[in-house]
Amino acid sequence: MKIDEYVPIVGEEVVAEIKRLGDDLRGKEMLHVNSTYVGGGVAELLKSLVPLMNDVGLKTEWKTISGDKEFFDITKNFHNALHGAYIEITQRMMDKYLEVNLSNVERLDLSKDFIFVHDPQPAALVQFRKGGKWVWRCHIDISSPNKDVWSFLARFVSKYDAIVVHLPDYKRPDIQKPQFVIPPSIDPLSEKNIELPASYVEKVLRKYELDPEMPIITQVSRFDKLKDPIGVFKAFELAKKGISTFDFRGLLDRDSFAFDLFRTLKYRVSLQLVLVGGSATDDPEGEKIHYEVLKKAISDRNVHVLMLPPEAHREINAIQRGSTILIQKSIKEGFGLTVTEGMWKGKPVIGGRTGGIKYQILDGETGFLVSNISEAAEKILFLIKNPQIRRAMGIKAKEHVRKNFLVTRHLRDYLSLLKGLEA
Ligand code: UDP
Repeated sequence: MKIDEYVPIVGEEVVAEIKRLGDDLRGKEMLHVNSTYVGGGVAELLKSLVPLMNDVGLKTEWKTISGDKEFFDITKNFHNALHGAYIEITQRMMDKYLEVNLSNVERLDLSKDFIFVHDPQPAALVQFRKGGKWVWRCHIDISSPNKDVWSFLARFVSKYDAIVVHLPDYKRPDIQKPQFVIPPSIDPLSEKNIELPASYVEKVLRKYELDPEMPIITQVSRFDKLKDPIGVFKAFELAKKGISTFDFRGLLDRDSFAFDLFRTLKYRVSLQLVLVGGSATDDPEGEKIHYEVLKKAISDRNVHVLMLPPEAHREINAIQRGSTILIQKSIKEGFGLTVTEGMWKGKPVIGGRTGGIKYQILDGETGFLVSNISEAAEKILFLIKNPQIRRAMGIKAKEHVRKNFLVTRHLRDYLSLLKGLEA
């Protein structure tokens, strides 16, 4: 992707500023390190940012660390613990974590001007720094972590030159290093977000046996308990009941045969739920949660649990565009890219009142924040019943993303940070 291609979306001024910053850094070498090329938000971001950084003048590479199942089980435990879950961190876990980080040092060329290390999995690489400026880019909510896990990781985090977090709330008072707030973004020209012809959207819906005529509620997420797919399912069930009674209350005699027949038919065809999942190579829990969701959903033919391959970006884009409402009912969420993706498609998004989602959704304007299943159901119903409000919210949602959450803003923030670190 070339930076000039973004002019029609964000305007010439924004692109000119990025080019100026890129010129100041021209020829510098940069490395991004994370733990997976596919699945999850970090991979999604780097796929767009790395080519753009190269286009504006930095020689940028992206590498992943490799580790075995035990390592990724441990780091997934760390991930859950940083979001507040209780885990006991054992000596074996710490040793294994360090051993895998050390084994990756030999595979990586760490002699760059700038090294961005993403998330906890490769954080200990900093112990082997040779030079250059090191930035720890944290993509999760670390505002109230499990203390033992955090104090283990903080040993490494405090060795970086700078920390970048998504939100002001995620800054760590115990880390005496410069901390910057840079929210993540989506790429409007990626396969995941690019405009699509209506005929393709319909084709994809039909391919997955979805009825384009019937409202569709969709959550796109890794199968992870913190994304609460079971909660989404329950909210859907509740909302569906609301629709069957709402539509006909007072119109027909409740005891009549016609009421019963109509209600049964309407009940069956009122609403569809799509849970689009996938797996990430650094998330070993996915399979178990996927199975739990399937068990719940199996009896309802209007619930579609789709496990799509990691490269199914265009199809996910089509499903988001073909949906009536998008939902991201996370219990914890550093920042939900899927929320921004939905908003960019002109859809209101219902999101869990947590972490970054609280900043992404303007409650009541571009969607709704919800704290539990019944609130989620209530907002689903409200949006289904009010198509005009739904559309108006969708238009606002898209503009909110254009101003705040596109990759061009993200790139500009990174380039400014790098310039600052050089000075
Ligand atoms: N995603 C995907 N396929 C899936 C599930 C998710 O491509 O089956 C993408 C999704 O569209 C989004 C990213 O993975 O771009 C998830 O990012 P988010 O910040 O929402 O959550 P994370 O997985 O990083 O916790």
